[in-house]
Amino acid sequence: MADFPLPAELAQAVVAGERSALARAMTLVESTLPEHQLLAQELLALLMPHTGKSQRIGVTGVPGVGKSTFLDSYGMYLIERGHRVAVLAIDPSSSITGGSILGDKARMNDLALSDQAFVRPSPSSNNLGGVARRTRENILLCEAAGYDMVLIETVGVGQSETVVADMVDFFLVLMLAGAGDELQGIKKGIVELADLIAINKTDGDNLNRAKAAANDYPSALHYLTPTSEKWRPSTICISALESAGYEDLYSQIAEHAAVMHACGEWSSKRQQQNTKWMWSLIKNRLLDD
Ligand code: GDP
Repeated sequence: MADFPLPAELAQAVVAGERSALARAMTLVESTLPEHQLLAQELLALLMPHTGKSQRIGVTGVPGVGKSTFLDSYGMYLIERGHRVAVLAIDPSSSITGGSILGDKARMNDLALSDQAFVRPSPSSNNLGGVARRTRENILLCEAAGYDMVLIETVGVGQSETVVADMVDFFLVLMLAGAGDELQGIKKGIVELADLIAINKTDGDNLNRAKAAANDYPSALHYLTPTSEKWRPSTICISALESAGYEDLYSQIAEHAAVMHACGEWSSKRQQQNTKWMWSLIKNRLLDD
């Protein structure tokens, strides 16, 4: 069993921004040992006053859409703008394979080397609720450590999107321009969660096809229920490989935050998320017993 510093000591090191302390705190929170869970609760209680100040952004898309390329280059873009960036990954397949399908890949190389970034690879887990519970707590830990942009990545293939959408302020769906069938290719459930759709790989030979696809999405989005009465999701084109379209993306996310703050939905949404989280903790506790 790994030894951990006392919660007060660990909390102090996390708040001081020590990356190794943050990593240990996450390991503690993720541990299923009852004695660790007690320590984790104490740690989280100490850190609570330091949480809540980040922008929480969910990023989803099918494997191959370019998520890791995107997180790496957009993470660096954010750092150049003075942000501190944390990336958390949810990989639901890990419960099936017993390990991460993405784990072997060289992912987010630039970002992982930056001292303004913290990258947490996919945790393995037995159930989605477990992953979500720890991810939510990991978001709070990142905030306590001073990261003001927390990006939560999920593979766009399962239920994990809904779980992640319940933890974030902004939900970004990455898509590819298909060969004319892009609208059918959208998983309706996932698109309904989107605050913004970004068509990736808008570069090289793909440029015109992607731009045409981007024109098709707004009309399709029109038929879906927007995530908020105050916000209509739109579609933009980006290239994660060339870091293109990021000004547009950055300003859309900033505008969304400004609109949500102004109408009070920012805090009401977080309150609702807290309540849901509390109930899911209770449900998990009951299932554990
Ligand atoms: P993930 O499975 O969603 O994490 O996708 P990856 O980031 O691993 O990207 C899958 C492949 O698409 C890799 O070969 C990337 O180099 C490539 N790729 C990612 N983003 C872009 C892009 O903007 N343009 C082009 N042309 N290729 C990209």
